Amino acid sequence: MRALDGPLPGGPSEAGDVLAFLDGYGSPATVASAGGRYFGFVTGGALPATLAAQYLAAAWDQNSFSFVSSPAVACFEATALRWVKEALGLPAAAEGALVTGATMANFTCLAAARNHLLVRAGWDVDRQGLFGAPDLPVVVGGEAHASLFKTLSLLGLGRERVLRAEADDQGRLRADRLPRIDGPAIVCIQAGNVNSGAFDPAEEVVAWARQRETWVHVDGAFGLWALASDELAPLARGFSGADSWATDAHKWLNVPYDSGIALVRDPEALARAMSISGSYLLASEHRDAMNVTPDSSRRARALEVWAALKALGRSGLTEMVERSCRQARRIAEGLQAGGAEILNEVVLNQVVACFGDDSRTQLVIAAVQNDGTCWCGGTVWKGRAAMRISVSSWATSDDDIARSIAAILRARESI
Ligand SMILES: *Cc1c(COP(=O)(O)O)cnc(C)c1O
Repeated sequence: MRALDGPLPGGPSEAGDVLAFLDGYGSPATVASAGGRYFGFVTGGALPATLAAQYLAAAWDQNSFSFVSSPAVACFEATALRWVKEALGLPAAAEGALVTGATMANFTCLAAARNHLLVRAGWDVDRQGLFGAPDLPVVVGGEAHASLFKTLSLLGLGRERVLRAEADDQGRLRADRLPRIDGPAIVCIQAGNVNSGAFDPAEEVVAWARQRETWVHVDGAFGLWALASDELAPLARGFSGADSWATDAHKWLNVPYDSGIALVRDPEALARAMSISGSYLLASEHRDAMNVTPDSSRRARALEVWAALKALGRSGLTEMVERSCRQARRIAEGLQAGGAEILNEVVLNQVVACFGDDSRTQLVIAAVQNDGTCWCGGTVWKGRAAMRISVSSWATSDDDIARSIAAILRARESI
C-alpha cells in the first residue's frame, strides 16, 4: 500500500506494466471474499458466468442510459427484470430499476413512494420540492438496516423523524406495535434482518397498510431471494403484497459488484419520481433506463443479472438459496455441539454465535480471522458482542462448512 503513495506519473506506461503493478501490489491486499469460506457481512461471490459477463460488458463499453445508446443492454435489462419478477413471484406489471445496490434500490423505491403519496395529497414534490409539503410519516422496524436511515435522509424524510415500531427478540417488527396513523404514510419492512435473517410479518403489515392508504416498502437486500424457494415460503408469506421491493444482486444472487434491484408495483409511480424530463409520460416507444433510475450514464449491470439467472435457471436459483440455508443450519449445529451459544433462530442463511462474555467472543473472532481458514466478522446482537456468519456464496461447499466449523472451534479452544 505504501507503493501506491507515489506522485502522478509524468508519462505513459505499458498496459502490461500497469496490470502487473495492480496485481503485484493490489492482489495481496484484497480479502478472499470470492472463496467459499468467506462469511463476512452478507457478501456472496460471483458465479463464473456473471464474472465473464462483466468482462464482456466492459469490453463492449456500452452506456445503458437509453435504448438508442445500447439496444442490446436495454433488451437484456428488460428480460433480466422480467425474470427476477418471475423467479420471486412479484407482480409482472411492476417496473424496475437496476442500480448500484440495496441502498440505492431503497432510495429509488422510497422516492417513488414519497412522490406518489404526496401527489395524491395534492403536492407535486417533483416540481415544488419538500418545503411546505404535507406531513408524510415513515414507519420502520426497530431493527431496520442502518443504510435505510441514510436513504431517508437523502430523500428529505429525515433520519430521526421516523416512527420506529418495536422489534421482537429475533429483530422482527411487531405488527401489534405499529403506530396510530390516519393519513397516508410509508412503512418499511424487512425480508432478512442483517444479523438474524428474520423476516418481518408482511401479511399483517400489508393488511394494516391497506386500511390507511399506506405504502409498504420491502428492504430485502438478501432475504428477498427466499421468495424463490417453496421451502422458505412460510417466511416469505405476504411480501408479494407490498408496493415496492429493494434487493441486491451482488449478495445472494452472486453477481459481481455493484448491483442492486428496485421494483415498484405501480410503474407510473416509479417513472414520476425518476423521469429525466420531469414528465412521467415516456418520450420514446422504448424503455429508457434514465426514466426509471436515479442515474443517466451507467454501466451494463443487466448482463450479470441476466447471466446469473440464465446460468442457474429457476431450479439452480432455488437450490443455491436452499443450500446456503442448509449450510447455515449445519454451522449453527456444529458450533452449538462444540459449546458455542447460538443467539438467533437460524431461519435463513445467518448465524449469530457467542463464545462466552463479550471479550471472549471478540478474542475468538480475532483468532478465527488470524487463522485464515475462514473469515467471520463481529456484530452486536441484543446488546451482546457476537460472531456473525453469513452463508451466501455459490462457491461454499459442504467441505468448506466442515473445515470452517472445525477452525472456529479450534479458535475457541485456543482462548
Ligand atoms: C446490505 C444491506 C443493505 C445495503 O445494501 P448495499 O448493497 O450495501 O447498498 C440494506 N439492507 C439490508 C437488509 C442489507 O443487508
